[in-house]
Amino acid sequence: MPEGPEIKRSADAIAQVLEGHVVESADLHHNALAGSECAIVGQTVERIECRGKALLTHFSSGKTMYSHNQLYGLWRVTPRGKLAATNRALRIALHTDNHSASLYSATDISIWDTSGIEQHPFLQRLGPDLLAPETQADTVLALLEQATFKNRQLASLYLDQGFIAGNGNYLRSEILFFAGVNPLLKPRELTQPARKKLAKNTISISQRSYRTGGITLPASITPKDTKPGRRYYERDRFAVFAREGKPCRICRTPIKKSVVTSRRIYWCPKCQPA
Ligand SMILES: [Zn+2]
Repeated sequence: MPEGPEIKRSADAIAQVLEGHVVESADLHHNALAGSECAIVGQTVERIECRGKALLTHFSSGKTMYSHNQLYGLWRVTPRGKLAATNRALRIALHTDNHSASLYSATDISIWDTSGIEQHPFLQRLGPDLLAPETQADTVLALLEQATFKNRQLASLYLDQGFIAGNGNYLRSEILFFAGVNPLLKPRELTQPARKKLAKNTISISQRSYRTGGITLPASITPKDTKPGRRYYERDRFAVFAREGKPCRICRTPIKKSVVTSRRIYWCPKCQPA
């Protein structure tokens, strides 16, 4: 399942072809969109916005389309009318003068008044967005010290979209590793400097992954031939994620794996002591 950085990169690609452009025609193959042609067709896309794993498409009609990719949804951007070759079910295609942005397979789609979009039940439950410019290390530090979150195990907190939206499984392992904290600890069990370091890494590792397209290792220790499609891509781009039994890139201790909140987590027992 894509995490915040992947979703933001996908939103960037969609924004690049839609923002400021008029939707000249549209294919709307989802019940929730029946009767919504006039809210979309002939309208300008004013802004594309990521909220955690949801995407908001704001139209000049004063309407906003909410879509959530869940596990299988996928957006594709192509030259106009040249839709991707795929067996997936097409839900939406928005056609501008030059491009088509198409959403496949997703089922969680709805149209809202832009002024009322914050009432969406999913958005109401979300914490601040991991990659939003206004989300800074201080924002994360304040959350780590809030009564709601400070007694929760980090391993569970770092998957909770109500804590920070856009976090996900590989980011959880990678952020906790670079912050040097054990996944089983709670924020209140950390020293103030350790909480600060964790807050700082929460932002910096996510932004690095966004910039690099999913590589969380700093450039200085990223294997030269790391690229998508390479056989060991999954474990070569991370410090600990998917590297069970491999030597820690810092201290050579074998990386451990366990399952917390039904998802696999990886850590170094020496760099992240209990
Ligand atoms: Zn280590």
